[in-house]
Amino acid sequence: MELTQLKGIGKTTAEKLHTLGINDVMDLLFHLPLRYEDKTCITAIEDLLGFSHAQVEGEIVKSYVTQGRRPILVVEIDDGTAFMQLKFFNFYYSQKIKMRAGLRIRAYGEIKHGMYGMEIIHPEFSLGEKQPALAESLTPVYPKSEGISQKLLQKSTAQAVQLLKFGEFDLSELLPTDWLNKQNMPSLIDALLYVHRPPPDADVMQLLNQTHPAQQRLKIEEILAHFLAMHQARTAIQQQTAPALPVSQKQNQTLLSRLPFELTGAQARVIKEIQADMSCSYPMQRLVQGDVGSGKTVVAALAMQAALVHGKQVVMMAPTEILAEQHLVTLKGYFADKKVVFLSGKIKGRPRTEALAEIGGDADVIIGTHALFQSDVEYRDLALVIIDEQHRFGVHQRLMLKNKGQGQKGLGRETLPHSLIMTATPIPRTLAQIAYANLDVSVIDELPPNRKVINTVLLDNSKMPQLALRIRNACSNGEQAYWVCTLIEESEHMRSKAAQDTFEELQNQFPDLEVGLIHGRLKSDDKQEVMDRFKANDIQLLVATTVIEVGVDVPNASLMVIENAERLGLSQLHQLRGRVGRGNRQSHCVLMYQAPLSENAQIRLQTMRETNDGFKIAQQDLKLRGPGEILGTRQKGSMEFRLSNPEQDAQLFKLAKTMAADLMQSNPKVCDLIIKRWQKQAQTLAKV
Ligand code: ADP
Ligand code: MG
Repeated sequence: MELTQLKGIGKTTAEKLHTLGINDVMDLLFHLPLRYEDKTCITAIEDLLGFSHAQVEGEIVKSYVTQGRRPILVVEIDDGTAFMQLKFFNFYYSQKIKMRAGLRIRAYGEIKHGMYGMEIIHPEFSLGEKQPALAESLTPVYPKSEGISQKLLQKSTAQAVQLLKFGEFDLSELLPTDWLNKQNMPSLIDALLYVHRPPPDADVMQLLNQTHPAQQRLKIEEILAHFLAMHQARTAIQQQTAPALPVSQKQNQTLLSRLPFELTGAQARVIKEIQADMSCSYPMQRLVQGDVGSGKTVVAALAMQAALVHGKQVVMMAPTEILAEQHLVTLKGYFADKKVVFLSGKIKGRPRTEALAEIGGDADVIIGTHALFQSDVEYRDLALVIIDEQHRFGVHQRLMLKNKGQGQKGLGRETLPHSLIMTATPIPRTLAQIAYANLDVSVIDELPPNRKVINTVLLDNSKMPQLALRIRNACSNGEQAYWVCTLIEESEHMRSKAAQDTFEELQNQFPDLEVGLIHGRLKSDDKQEVMDRFKANDIQLLVATTVIEVGVDVPNASLMVIENAERLGLSQLHQLRGRVGRGNRQSHCVLMYQAPLSENAQIRLQTMRETNDGFKIAQQDLKLRGPGEILGTRQKGSMEFRLSNPEQDAQLFKLAKTMAADLMQSNPKVCDLIIKRWQKQAQTLAKV
């Protein structure tokens, strides 16, 4: 049903509602109140103690405007039990005139203790002998957006609720009644009616805390739909074919023997999991989570090995050119006997044509950035797609790459490549199970041996001079340092300019050191040259913007200075800090900040000082920012629950997970209907 069919909603308002994700009247029913006001009764003034909000009614005794810099309109009322004051800081002269002594007034608002007894500041009120009837249910207060008033939302939901009562919408109950009874949850329709217009005796605390059975009933179906959709997406892919790529111990050993180190237990385990997947004839869909520096690249290399021994092609995509180039160097080292081809946005003209020909021809390992999935890139025989630092990519970019291998040599059915997704954003397990319910998840939960814990210190900007000594000490010891400039909000141009300024300053300050500069506006080749020189220890102090945030691996660097650390989020700080502590010497990270710190910033910096453990940091981040932010803005879509919150509703998520498994067994048809009902979610989800 169209929104415009409701009274009071015209075309413009409908459009504004669309921005809230409300496209029709049914959506409006799923736009739930944030809180409630109780206007179902009048409270006597003498009983107001202990109320946070209340409605009173009495006679105006007097009204006056106080003298002073900021005049206040004070209205004293008496309801026969006691006096109280209503105060208006903003008022019109006409309002003052209306508030005549002797008139009846009804007022609703937050109850405060004033100097002369109870008071309400800026109450909602109505004047006159004849007051409207009291509300029959609690008054819902909806999440608003610009240009849409609370009144409008209340009026339109009231109409929607009436229509719902008269059976206007197809909202048949999809969950088994005996199950709902057992959980003490109402039917869907009853739940909707209840949350929009709760009866006067409703447990308001429960409603406010979002734990009322009616709210739980709505959430559980939303969460169920999520799990079911994820499962469906996963099953759909499992029904496709992929090349089975078994690999022998001996074939693994050829590669392993070229490594300068032994695998950690965690790396070995994850590689086993990946290779087991790849030996199946349906596409792998695996996510590897490993904290910064846990050694994901070599895990990727062993996944590649499985495809390469079968003469297949593999592709690895990185979010930045710097990181892609780094992978190129590493993997060329590992696969010296293979043809390794690079493709990124900077490669144009003739070299690009050549690269494309090789990708369609005898290339084995293909590495690059998102340029890899432009439509004119055609692969000869792609069997494995690896996406590094996946949280940096948008959903669409990932999808496009995944589709690349489609339509190959399949026997009637589509053949897909295996896909391996790697991320350094440690997501708490519970959250990962929700966000990645369509993927298998492996965790590298061990760092290579001999890593020393990075020593993190906080330094007030005013103590900057102390830093010079630290930097000089480190560099004269043969070590190297990063200096990270972090201007956020501004343009890349501004960021680069700030880095340039810092670079010049530091050059002056350390004439005896080789200082380098890298930022997003440098040409690719220049970036590469700077990185090469830093890797070769030609540059001792590297001034950088956050372009070095992901993946960069220079084990000899042992000192990192981060400017304006108080402005960065926890996970970004953790990623940046992860650029040091990659070798076996003691590393240090100096977080510069400008006092005074907000409470939130204090917690963040303190957390950074106290722990190096990415999972602990993620847990704290989750508390501070919520799940949407943790998964990265670009991935928000995958976690956009309308009603539920993975952290607060952890119990419900657990319950829904078992329920989903049961329902898929017992009633697949109903599963489809549930997904369909919550399709908005499902459509976004299926893409992940
Ligand atoms: P990530 O991508 O997980 O942040 P990298 O793959 O860049 O980490 O590896 C970080 C560093 O650790 C690299 O210099 C790599 O050579 C090294 N490394 C990886 N695995 C091991 C291991 N098992 N033992 C010692 N060093 C390792
Ligand atoms: Mg990496």
